[in-house]
Formats: sequence, C-alpha cells, structure tokens
Amino acid sequence: MKKVGILYIATGEYWKFWNDFFESSQKHFLQDCELYYFLFTDNTGLLNLSSEKIYSNYLEHQKWPYPTLLRYHVFYNHREIFRNMDYLIFCNANLVFLKNIRLEELFLDKPMFATLHPGYFRKSYRFFPYEKNVKSTAYLKRTANSVYVCGGFNGGLTEYFLKMSEILKINIDQDLKNGIIAKWHDESHFNKYVALNRCDFNILFSSYCYPENMRLNIEKIILVRDKDKVFKIIHKGKWYYF
Ligand code: UDP
Repeated sequence: MKKVGILYIATGEYWKFWNDFFESSQKHFLQDCELYYFLFTDNTGLLNLSSEKIYSNYLEHQKWPYPTLLRYHVFYNHREIFRNMDYLIFCNANLVFLKNIRLEELFLDKPMFATLHPGYFRKSYRFFPYEKNVKSTAYLKRTANSVYVCGGFNGGLTEYFLKMSEILKINIDQDLKNGIIAKWHDESHFNKYVALNRCDFNILFSSYCYPENMRLNIEKIILVRDKDKVFKIIHKGKWYYF
C-alpha cells in the first residue's frame, strides 16, 4: 500500500474545519492507501492530536496572506519528516470529501496533479488571472493551451512535490525581496509552475474543488466549505453544509 502524506495548514480560525475534513477523509479519501496527516497549526487542540497517523507541528499564525503564501516554505522546511511518504497531497483546510476517491484517479500516469479552478474552468483563457507584473517570478503569459488551476488541492510523488516546494519558495522569496506579492499569492506561483512543467501534471476537473456557495452543474466530489458561513455558524454550535 502506498503511503500518502496529507499536508494540512490551520492557523488562526482555521482549526474549525479540521473535524469535518478529517472525518470525511477517513470515510472517502484514498481507501486504497495508508494516510498520514501532517498538521501545521497554532491550535492547542490540534497540537494535542498527535498519534501514529497524525503528526502535529507548531506553526505560528501570521496575518493574511502569509499563511497561504508561505505554505511551500513550510513544506520545504519540514521536508525531513516526509521522507517515508510515497506521495504528498496538499488540502486546503476547508475541504470536505463527498465521494470515494482513489489514488489512481488523481494521478493517472503522471507524477503530480492539480485541479482546475472552479471560477475559471468555463472561461476563456483570456480571463485567467495570471500574475501580470513582469517583475514577479510568477509572471505568466496567457496562451490558448493555458489552464488556470486552484491552489487548494494538489499533490505529487514526494520527490516531485518537494522539488516544486523548493522552487516556489525560492521564487516567492525573490519576489518578497523585491517588495512584490503576486496577485493570487501561492496560487499565482503554482500556476506558473504548472505551466512550465505541464507534462508532469494530471489536471483534475473542478468537481474536486466545488465551492459550497456556487452552482456549477457539475458533479460534487470534494466540497470547498464557505469560510464565512462556517466562521459564523460555528458560533451557534451547528454545522450545515449541503
Ligand atoms: N490558512 C490558515 N490560516 C489563515 C489563512 C489561511 O491556516 O489565517 C490556510 C488554510 O489551510 C487555508 C489556506 O491557507 O485553507 C488558504 O487560505 P485562504 O483563505 O487564503 O484561501 P482560499 O480559501 O480563499 O483559497
């Protein structure tokens, strides 16, 4: 059985998504693999979860957009703890798995996968929000073959994923040195990487990142919970999401 490391960041308020994420992943995600959860969090409850399959690591909360922008720094800096994993998969905190998903359907015969952004999969490439600043390392020109992928669900063979993390870390550091933050943060840099390494990626349909607050008329396989709704509803002690 393949060992898959799930990379999960939850600082500040984002710990609130963990229970539903974890329970739904246990039910539906990669039943054909051994799952190991690598949590990066400042939440005491999550830090105390450590077990044979859950590795909690302290990560200081920073103001937005740094928790999302610097995710590849976190992964690259922790690369030693992933050494026994065959694959690494990053999941945004607010994902909920609705249908059974097998490893093969994510990767097909490729070493990495990315997911079409649900806001752009029906739009012409002319509207893709790539980074326009030529001084940014994320700068990317649109072409008729372009895809626009989301930052919230991607993965790869461990070696490939860590190589990508290192390159994105270097690029983001270079931008920060020049006082630049790309338009969509890590997502802009990830899109650049996918464009340059397209043959390494299986591109999943947006069904694998279906936003709770959109009606797309496509299958829902992974739901992206509405953050505002959760941050409000949790205070009433209730969870509704379908
Ligand atoms: N995140 C976090 N704490 C924050 C902000 C973001 O842990 O204060 C992490 C979390 O894993 C979240 C991801 O970064 O799912 C992306 O967050 P963001 O809200 O920037 O992106 P979006 O949900 O809009 O894709």
